[in-house]
Amino acid sequence: MRRFDLALPDSLESCLQALATAPDAKLVAGGTDLLPQMKIGVVKPRTIVDISALPELKVLQTDEGGNLHVGAAVPAHTLEMHTPTATNFTALAESAGVVGSFQVRNLATLGGNLANAAPSADMAPPLLALEADLLIAGKNGRRRVPISDFFLGVRRTQLAADDVLVEIIIPAPAPGSGGTYIRHTPRRELDIAVVGVASQVTVRDGTCVKARIALGAVAPVPLRATAAEARLENQAVTPQLIEEAAELAVSAASPISDQRGSADYRRHLVRVLTRRTLATALERATGPGARPTTGDLP
Ligand SMILES: Cc1cc2nc3c(=O)[nH]c(=O)nc-3n(C[C@H](O)[C@H](O)[C@H](O)COP(=O)(O)OP(=O)(O)OC[C@H]3O[C@@H](n4cnc5c(N)ncnc54)[C@H](O)[C@@H]3O)c2cc1C
Repeated sequence: MRRFDLALPDSLESCLQALATAPDAKLVAGGTDLLPQMKIGVVKPRTIVDISALPELKVLQTDEGGNLHVGAAVPAHTLEMHTPTATNFTALAESAGVVGSFQVRNLATLGGNLANAAPSADMAPPLLALEADLLIAGKNGRRRVPISDFFLGVRRTQLAADDVLVEIIIPAPAPGSGGTYIRHTPRRELDIAVVGVASQVTVRDGTCVKARIALGAVAPVPLRATAAEARLENQAVTPQLIEEAAELAVSAASPISDQRGSADYRRHLVRVLTRRTLATALERATGPGARPTTGDLP
């Protein structure tokens, strides 16, 4: 690996200054994407700015409205074990729990997963389904970007080279909501998703009033299956309707064939995983284990 300078800012301000003075600098949080890329020479930064200990990026709390604030440098393992996340933002906690191995999850951050922008990034589909916003700091101040606008292509995002993703803000799901994330990998661990699907639904008086379905690893960017969502909304959901939504989700996917699976196999997985995630999300929204998602959070 090439030699590099290491900057260890102690505040977001000094981090932004470090980026301004070293134009080819790269941020590092857990390093689980960046260091392998440096080892094979895909990126060759002269300066690395370590953000893993910046207090502003380590926030993990719910506010009075029940919205979840996750600092970009919060590791997947912390998210997976965080009770309010597991209870009210279950799809996100589940996705954090499947990243890499135990060792990887101790380092791998939510911000790094999003900023790296791999189509298979596991924590992206749940955040799309939960309609998260991303707080980004740059030389012109701060801006809030809906996650649906964040991804621009494979490894391309709204982040400029001197931007820092600071926080991910996830609105509290309404009462009667449930969600889940399921991915398919040939191996149980240390493998990336061939397809990943997150579903999040809200049910009121037996009617699905809101449905969000997000797909990973089936297009250059993680994306919502909006036609499938529309098919479910304002309906009493039946197995037949779930089948129709799963079919519509397939039409949102534009998968490639590679060594991990053919495009046809990926379309099949979208159908199966959409069906399964919807069934689980509906059960969580309405079943005996369903919990109100506003008010006192644990
Ligand atoms: C063995 C192994 C298994 C893995 N398995 C999975 C898996 O199952 N699922 C999965 O989704 N991923 C997996 N990954 C990929 C990786 O672990 C995740 O994407 C992880 O979340 C990246 O976070 P990080 O903190 O390590 O990012 P880093 O490597 O530190 O950074 C990644 C990129 O994001 C940029 N960046 C980081 N933080 C910020 C920020 N706050 N603002 C702006 N830019 C930022 C960096 O400059 C860099 O370009 C695996 C990696 C390894 C090595």
